[in-house]
Amino acid sequence: MRPTGALHLGHYHGVLRNWVALAQDHDCLYFVADWHALTTRLDRPEELAHHTREMVIDWIAVGLDPTRVTLFVQSRVPAHAELHLLLSMIVPVGWLERVPTYKELRQAATGEETLSYGFLGYPVLMSADVLLYGAAGVPVGEDQLAHLELTREIARRFNDLYGRGPAFAADLERALGRLDPAERHGYDGLLRAYRERGEEEALTRLEALLAAVAGLGGDGRAVLAAAARGTGRTILREPRPLLTPTPRLPGLDGRKMSKSYGNTITLRDDPSAVWEKLRTMVTDPARVRRTDPGDPEKCPVWAWHLVYSDAPTRDWVDRGCRTAGIGCLDCKKKLLEPILRDLEPIRARAQQLAARPGEVEDILEEGGRRARARAEPVLETVRGCLGLRRRGGG
Ligand code: SF4
Repeated sequence: MRPTGALHLGHYHGVLRNWVALAQDHDCLYFVADWHALTTRLDRPEELAHHTREMVIDWIAVGLDPTRVTLFVQSRVPAHAELHLLLSMIVPVGWLERVPTYKELRQAATGEETLSYGFLGYPVLMSADVLLYGAAGVPVGEDQLAHLELTREIARRFNDLYGRGPAFAADLERALGRLDPAERHGYDGLLRAYRERGEEEALTRLEALLAAVAGLGGDGRAVLAAAARGTGRTILREPRPLLTPTPRLPGLDGRKMSKSYGNTITLRDDPSAVWEKLRTMVTDPARVRRTDPGDPEKCPVWAWHLVYSDAPTRDWVDRGCRTAGIGCLDCKKKLLEPILRDLEPIRARAQQLAARPGEVEDILEEGGRRARARAEPVLETVRGCLGLRRRGGG
């Protein structure tokens, strides 16, 4: 997530709750994309550190536990930049010019500065962000599917180019040599079942067999599995999109909730600020007077009831609105309690963390250390594929 500062209810329902849920049973990494922020905003560098800290406070306050997930800042893990550079050598410019966000911005651009080299290349940086950790999945919205598809194409291209180099046959020979006779017999049998009889399930059993061979190593397993599939080695893993339907919470003016529109309720607004904003939220324009009937489908407040209210309350709103039996303030008051029930513990945790900035810094330091340690082996493999070896004086 780009560092946008304190977060709002749109982030909470659209992204953060899903992140927290994913962290229950996945090994998750979440990072502040501060380099990405620079691709479109260079004018306020003084805000970057502040926004980073405030955003991470909100992440933790909503329930991301830094002892279970890795929270870090992109620019503190230089491997992202190095992989971006290396991948940029194999990505055709045409792929990037076709990315929808680039096309849109180019059409809308008025000044040269908008179309920086960095902006053209940011989908490659995004790909590096994901491929660096061998991510199995990435939580994305529909609007980011094109970016993730590009990431998959880049991984495929890299694997095609470097997964079958001259070293592959030698690696295969070496890995086969590490199987004892019984394991080799099992491997050959399952290979025939898959290749000659097309038994898909044999491939699964073959991978299980390899997983159980002690001393084979991840590389040996990858080579033998790739040989069985008839492909080259998978060096960069293709991530799949984790598309979770999330509720859409419109802003107070009915447009998309966004800090730049000034139409948000932030996660740290106090109860009086929440009510003041809710009270003045736009409604169905047809309800000019209390006695005018309305249509919930034309009212952004209704979208909030779909998120916060139970079925009886929704029935009450629907009937009361259409018959002018209730006023808009009555309708909005019903939202106040569930919103505050969500926000109060978040606000309390955020206040505690904001009072201890050293703690947030420590969390980000530790997260950065963990991310660097995880990224390095992947990067080292990529360097090796390209003939760039660091270890051993390369
Ligand atoms: S009664 Fe509720 S749903 Fe109907 S227009 Fe007013 S705020 Fe919207």
